[in-house]
Amino acid sequence: MSQAGVRLVFLGAPGAGKGTQAKAFQEKFSVPQISTGDILRTNVAKGTPLGLKAKSFMDAGDLVPDDLIIAMMESELGGRDSYILDGFPRTVAQAEALDALLTRLGHPLTAVVQFDCDREALIARLTGRWTNPRTGRTYHSEFNPPRVAGIDDDAGGPIVQRKDDSREVVAERLATYDEKTAPLVAYYEGTGLLVRIDALKPIDEVTAEIFAAIEARTKAVRT
Ligand code: ADP
Ligand code: AMP
Repeated sequence: MSQAGVRLVFLGAPGAGKGTQAKAFQEKFSVPQISTGDILRTNVAKGTPLGLKAKSFMDAGDLVPDDLIIAMMESELGGRDSYILDGFPRTVAQAEALDALLTRLGHPLTAVVQFDCDREALIARLTGRWTNPRTGRTYHSEFNPPRVAGIDDDAGGPIVQRKDDSREVVAERLATYDEKTAPLVAYYEGTGLLVRIDALKPIDEVTAEIFAAIEARTKAVRT
């Protein structure tokens, strides 16, 4: 697959596996992952003005206000041709702003991949997740453990459990998803861009399903 001009949105609840699959896709096809959660956490860690404004929303499991996210993504996407959006858009207002920006840039989306996953699996995945705070790569204590407990296989540094992966904040984040992000499935259904993936399958099978779906779609666009 040619990576030029591949622009994907990975849509789905927290814990559905978007980041895991975005990293696999990035490695195989050199299409860079843009994770709004990772960008925000870097801003919080550095104490930037954006990080200072975002922190209390993130700690509580709420969404950061649309105006801050839209401004952040406008500057992020401006000079780029290919990417996987992981965690954006998360509200209808963000999706409308993305449409307007991409129309302005003449950069239509290639596909929107919806990760279908049930609630029980989401909770088990989030509460057992371990993250490399530097790279954003994630592991799971049971489903995808690192070779050495507490250490990233590739980067070698420590992996940690995010504070917002605690049971209480996870409940808030899933309620926020139901209210604000789930309506995006209907939003994209009408565009012909939506590809639904069974995210309950094991990691490698989900990867294969996404690769096949995107390959078919980029071929269909070329022919
Ligand atoms: P998201 O980016 O959608 O919030 P992640 O990619 O971080 O989700 O995955 C959440 C957790 O679930 C991580 O601990 C990851 O290792 C694990 N995970 C991801 N995909 C699967 C899968 N298909 N089966 C089991 N566990 C998975
Ligand atoms: P994530 O790493 O995708 O689970 O995101 C972690 C947190 O960052 C979320 O719970 C939100 O508080 C915030 N966040 C990430 N992406 C967005 C977005 N597109 N809109 C609003 N808030 C976001």
